[in-house]
Order: sequence, then structure tokens, then C-alpha cells
Amino acid sequence: MNGALTTLDRRDTDRVRTPLSEVQAQFDRAAQRLGLDSGTRQLLRSPLREHRVAVPVRMDDGSTTVFNGIRVQHNDARGPFKGGMRFHPSADADDVRALAMLMTWKCAVVDLPLGGAKGAIVCDPRSLSVAEQERLCRGWVRQMAQNLGPAIDVPAPDVMTSAQHMLWMLDEFETIFRAKAPAFITGKPVGLGGSPGRSEATGYGVVAVLLEALTRLGLEPKGATASIQGFGNVAQHAATRFVRSRGTLIAVSSWDAGDRQAYTFRKASGVDPGDLSQLTDRFGTINRLEAAARGYEVLPGSAWLEQEVDVLVPAALENQITAANAPRIHGRVRVIAEAANKPTTSDASLLLEERGVVVIPDIVANAGGVTCSYFEQVQGQSNYYWTREDVLRKIDSRMTSAFAAVHERAEREQVSLRDGAYLIAVERVAHACRERGWV
Ligand code: NAD
Repeated sequence: MNGALTTLDRRDTDRVRTPLSEVQAQFDRAAQRLGLDSGTRQLLRSPLREHRVAVPVRMDDGSTTVFNGIRVQHNDARGPFKGGMRFHPSADADDVRALAMLMTWKCAVVDLPLGGAKGAIVCDPRSLSVAEQERLCRGWVRQMAQNLGPAIDVPAPDVMTSAQHMLWMLDEFETIFRAKAPAFITGKPVGLGGSPGRSEATGYGVVAVLLEALTRLGLEPKGATASIQGFGNVAQHAATRFVRSRGTLIAVSSWDAGDRQAYTFRKASGVDPGDLSQLTDRFGTINRLEAAARGYEVLPGSAWLEQEVDVLVPAALENQITAANAPRIHGRVRVIAEAANKPTTSDASLLLEERGVVVIPDIVANAGGVTCSYFEQVQGQSNYYWTREDVLRKIDSRMTSAFAAVHERAEREQVSLRDGAYLIAVERVAHACRERGWV
């Protein structure tokens, strides 16, 4: 699992790399090892298509505001494009390109018949009324309708977009095409085409692969200890399943928007996720005073990383484990499960590998979410909905087989799990492009 590095063994400090250059560098590393020809490399290094739209929205005061949006469709050789649509005031086209590419690899590594896409509209939904948000969603679909659809490109929620936004988008799409099309979009409300199990899917999937990794390291989940960064959707469900698997959760952290800083909440006897979630708002912020009253030590935001535990789960943001703070990770830590997207910089990854820490890469660890989205599409297409237990069981099965394949590849080629995952994903997509005669 922790084989020697083979290429690009460079490290000094965390050099400033954009998410796009990081994702492309990881792709180049896999392409090099797979011996891909230059045409295939060129094709996979960049998106197949990008759509830029300007969406005019009638505001509540009668004026018109034009919102700019981008939809990046990276690759659809293995199936329709799939990926979230985010609303963000500082959305950046290169970040969207990076995330679209990441979706292609994520879908491929868990063997979903889907490609990768991502989109963003530059706006701050917190400053828009509900009616303005609805008009923006509908306006975006009117601009993009010809380039979307269950067989073309299937959007989903992302940063600051919700099930309600997805439902308005679906309604507009169905109005334009005069037909019901529940598989057009995922992340819809349960009961209106959403899949049961979606809210748990990512966090549960993280623990499914974590348990596999612990077993392979000869560690029992019972008695294993963990510390998690974040306490939002993914972290809370991961915490619940980890504790249910008889692990002990020592600490979690959260961002306090009022104080503009993060805090770590520690309980050496074990965090009770159900209890702590009652002190947590819908943005994943834990109430400090109430937590302290219930016996939690309230520590600085970085303390989650320094705990003497077997497992770390970064489940908040990108670039949280860096070459600067990686040396502060306790020597006991054996596994890091990347629940967030890109939480570990490449320089930190190299340091951790040298220390023998197993990093379960994001494209595998957090793929439970997109796997559930795929199941939502399947259920929508057949207009038959499964039980929550069915959905979670099928997610477990996909995730554990994907992890087994990645682990086997990494062992065989003596590379890290991240390199193993990229080798599988890039190979599958390159194969599909070749078989279709694109390259
Ligand atoms: P969320 O908004 O529900 O929760 C984020 C949590 O992180 C909150 O508890 C917040 O307080 C905390 N946080 C933010 N900044 C922090 C900081 N500096 N220090 C400590 N805590 C901080 O988000 P989520 O849906 O749980 O997603 C978490 C991560 O997982 C994101 O990176 C997301 O892109 C990724 N992800 C999510 C899904 C999904 O299905 N939700 C799927 C794949 C990947």
C-alpha cells in the first residue's frame, strides 16, 4: 500500500499550485506510467467542451441583473457528463475545470458509467431572494437546455446549491421538453425524485473504505481511534458510522463564522455524534458554550490534526494538510481518509507516504456521494425507488470493490493508493476513448 514513489519525487515547501495544475500534474503522472500517447494525453488533459452563459434575471425591484455561468464538460467517453452546479461569488473557471476533471476520474474509479463535469454561476445566493434564486435556476436551464439531459449531462447540487434549486431546474427542463425527466438532475428532495440515503451516502462511503483499509493494516475497527476535521453533512455521517462500527471518535472540529476561526472539540472518552449534532447548526457549526457545558474540551482549530489517534478524516475543505503542518501529525496515525476534495497538498502527500501513513485518496474515499447520485438517476429512469437500506448496501458494495481494486493495483505497481486510483481511472477513460475511435 505504501510503495516507493516512482516519478516526480520532488518536495521543498508547498509550492503555490492551482487546483487545475495539481489535477493535471496527477494526471500526467498516471499518463506517463501508463505510457499514453500524446494525442490521448492532450484529449484527457483538457475539457471536451465548455459552455459559457449570461443569464438575465428580473430582480424583485424590477431591474435586471445578468449572471455569468460556466459548465465544463470534461469527458463523456464512459457515459453522460455528471457533476455539481455551484453558486459562488468568486467562482473561478480554472477551479471548475479542475473539479470537472476530478469528476471524470472519480466516476471511472468506482466504475460508474458516467463522465465528468462541473459548473458554476457567479452569484451570492445569500443576497438573492428566494424568487430571484428560482428565476436564476430557471434562466440557467433555458440557456443550457440543449446541452443537458439524462443522456447528455446530469447536474447535481454543490457549494451553496440545494435540493430546492435542483427541483426548479428540473421543472424548467421538463417544461421546455414537455415530458417528465427525473433522471435529468440529481440531489432532488426525497419524495420528489430524490434517492433515499443521499444525505448519508458520502460519509457512510468514507467509512466503508476506511474499514477496508484498517482491516488490511491488521487493525480492528473496534478500539480504533479517529479525529475528524469538520462536522457538516459528510463528517456527521462518517462519525456516526465510525462509532457504530465500535471505533472511538476523539475529536471533531468546525468553523465558527461569528469568530471567523475554527475550533476543535475533544472528548477523550469518545465523542457521541448524535449528541454533538444536536449542538450543531445547519452549516455544521458547533455551539461552543453548550459543547463545553457537556464536557467537551474546546481547543484551537488545528488541534484535530495533532491528536494521538489511528485515523484522521479531513472532511471540511481543500488544502488542509500541508508540508508545513504534516510534521505535527502524531506518529500513531496510520490512515488518512480524504473525505473532502483535495484536502492534502501533493507535497504533504509525499511526506506522509515516506512516513508510511496510508492516504485513501479523495476520488475513492468520497465517491459514495456520486455513486448515490448515479443510483438516483437509475431509480428516476425506471420510476421505481429503492429503500434506504438497499441504496446504502449497494453503495457499500461499489465502494469496497473499488477500494479492493485500487489497493491491488497499488500493491502490484508499488505505488501509493492515490497513484493506484489514478492509474485505474485514467486507464478506463483512455480505453473508452480509444475504443470509440476518438484517439
Ligand atoms: P458542509 O458545508 O456540510 O460541512 C463543512 C464542515 O466543515 C462544517 O462543519 C464547517 O464548520 C467545517 N469547516 C469549514 N471550514 C473549516 C475549517 N477551516 N476548519 C474546520 N472546520 C471547518 O460540507 P459537506 O457537504 O460536509 O462537505 C465537506 C467536504 O466534502 C467538502 O470539501 C465537499 O466538497 C466534500 N464532498 C462532499 C460531498 C457530499 O456529498 N456532501 C461529496 C464529495 C465531497
